[in-house]
Amino acid sequence: MLCPVCKTDMIDLEHDKIELDYCVKCKGVWFDSNELELLFEKMNLKNCSLSISDLINKIDEKIPENKHKCPLCKKTMGKIKIGDSSQTVIDICINGDGLWFDGGELIQLIKHASQDIQQESNAEQQVINFLGEVFRI
Ligand SMILES: [Zn+2]
Repeated sequence: MLCPVCKTDMIDLEHDKIELDYCVKCKGVWFDSNELELLFEKMNLKNCSLSISDLINKIDEKIPENKHKCPLCKKTMGKIKIGDSSQTVIDICINGDGLWFDGGELIQLIKHASQDIQQESNAEQQVINFLGEVFRI
């Protein structure tokens, strides 16, 4: 699969049986929607309110960042804001294929998340924590 930003062939990263696609050049990460579900299942967040379709509903057309194309279906992805304190913007496939975290966004998100550790964990937070573990930031 090619990185949606720099078109480099991404590598598979596996952590705790969950696979991610990682771009070694721009440090971006692709989170397949199946892997996201697997992660929630693992963390017993099965009944949590966060799903890919909920996230798609959060797409904000007014976010002025550069748009990227989904590496799977090639449609232009939407932008959503995630995290409580950090206003981090990530990309999401409008067909629900998955999520894209830009390299810089990811590090920023994980750093912010580790500062808010006393906050009640929600599903978004779990994803961020997981990514923090993967990259050991
Ligand atoms: Zn797609």
